[in-house]
Amino acid sequence: MSRVSPSPAARRERPFGPLVLCYHAVSDSWGHELSVPPAAFERQLRLLRRWYRPVAAADLSTAGRRSLHVTFDDAFRSVSAALPTLQRLRIPATVFACSGYADDGRPLDVPELSTDAAAQPAELATMPWDTLRGLADDGLEIGSHTVSHPRLTRLDDAELRRELRESRERIADELGRECRFLAYPYGDEDQRVRAATRSAGYAAAFALPGTKSPADAWGIPRLGVWRKDHQLRLLTKVAFARPRHAGARV
Ligand SMILES: [Zn+2]
Repeated sequence: MSRVSPSPAARRERPFGPLVLCYHAVSDSWGHELSVPPAAFERQLRLLRRWYRPVAAADLSTAGRRSLHVTFDDAFRSVSAALPTLQRLRIPATVFACSGYADDGRPLDVPELSTDAAAQPAELATMPWDTLRGLADDGLEIGSHTVSHPRLTRLDDAELRRELRESRERIADELGRECRFLAYPYGDEDQRVRAATRSAGYAAAFALPGTKSPADAWGIPRLGVWRKDHQLRLLTKVAFARPRHAGARV
């Protein structure tokens, strides 16, 4: 992944860059906006697959705007329901896991989701190391979503460094392969966070819709896909609203 930002001219030529989708849970039974039903997930990907060429995360820096990559933040266990579709359509995907949750696979009990985590712990359960290893063996990229899912801009330099480095190293140790990519929790980042991410040894990092920072290798734009995004709405977003569509930021 290139560490060089595209020139202004290149940005004008490729105003959007590749299409990188950001999903969270894939479940029929959790009605939250972060959760897309498996059948809807399959319909969405089948549709987009007609026009977009799937690419791996490592190839995004050189991929054209008709390229497609799928990401999942938080490593919810329900993402397993998306795997058959990804395999059938041969779409590379990246799952971003918090190393501090993978030890016991407990529900993502961050303040914004604590009520849901208490009421529906199975829906918010996260993937433990064994599951993540299985995904990596199946060819999925496993990236870091930090250790504890904090708001990175609020941390002091030492804490910021720890969240970024410790998670990268732990994921690499547990999976026996490099951890090259980061997704910022809540999409909460600024230039200090981006610089620290680069120093922590990542090859690139993924933003969420609504970022005010420029799109580059440390803030790869993504289009969030939410439960309410039926086919037509998703296509409209893909055509007109990316990458700054507003939505949940977790
Ligand atoms: Zn998250």
